[in-house]
Amino acid sequence: MSDDIHEVYAVRYASHARMRSENYIFGDPHDEMTSIAYYVWVIKGPHGIFVCDTGFDQTEAKARGRKIIKPVGEGLKALGIEPDHVNHVVITHMHWDHSGNYDLFPNARYHVQDTEMAYATGRCMCHPMLRLPFGENDVVAMVKKVFAYRVDFHDGVEELAPGITVHKIGGHSKGLQCVRVKTQRGYVVVASDCCHLYSHIDEGRVFPITYSVGDTLEGYKTLLKLATSRNHIAPGHDPEVMNLFPAAKAGLEGWAVRLDVESKG
Ligand SMILES: [Zn+2]
Ligand SMILES: [Zn+2]
Repeated sequence: MSDDIHEVYAVRYASHARMRSENYIFGDPHDEMTSIAYYVWVIKGPHGIFVCDTGFDQTEAKARGRKIIKPVGEGLKALGIEPDHVNHVVITHMHWDHSGNYDLFPNARYHVQDTEMAYATGRCMCHPMLRLPFGENDVVAMVKKVFAYRVDFHDGVEELAPGITVHKIGGHSKGLQCVRVKTQRGYVVVASDCCHLYSHIDEGRVFPITYSVGDTLEGYKTLLKLATSRNHIAPGHDPEVMNLFPAAKAGLEGWAVRLDVESKG
């Protein structure tokens, strides 16, 4: 097997019901309930185990009124991965639902964009509106990892291993990055919140929590360039991912799917 081909999984750990209009700037004409999913992503291959984002834990779920279906650690174990064997954690951005569970991966190196760390610890956090999606404990935990020499900073595009690159997109969060992975079916892009739902990228719409609308919209173009097709993009919160892709293995339907094999869509 070539040394730059990887397996990629999406692991769902929580979901949340909300009005459809809450997902878009300018709202939505369909005033109905919908749900969003919460994921972490796993990249497995010849260069070790990479986890993209770390989700949130029970304490944060309670504080923010969310419901965990299966804790992140359990999802990884269902894929045969012990959290303390994870080599690398890519934090796409430091929002509370992507950077919690900060003690779950004691042996991993963390990968963050320079801009995201500066944003999450700088003057923008003096504005309640911009600070809302950040958790103080998550940010402090990341600063502690910096002082423990466990963080690799990136600026723009960088290769983490053959076939795995991070790309700064910004928009939703100032230093938000996506991860592009070479797989047997082409380039899969873990978009995380560069695109919350497929409808955002398909219809050019924008999620309300946004540092820059312009960078968000330009980011969609970058995602489409980086991925082999639109169906190679894994959005941050679209429940459809669980239906579009096959279960990672029997029994994990609705919990973990494989993104590196052909989608059903
Ligand atoms: Zn976010
Ligand atoms: Zn998110």
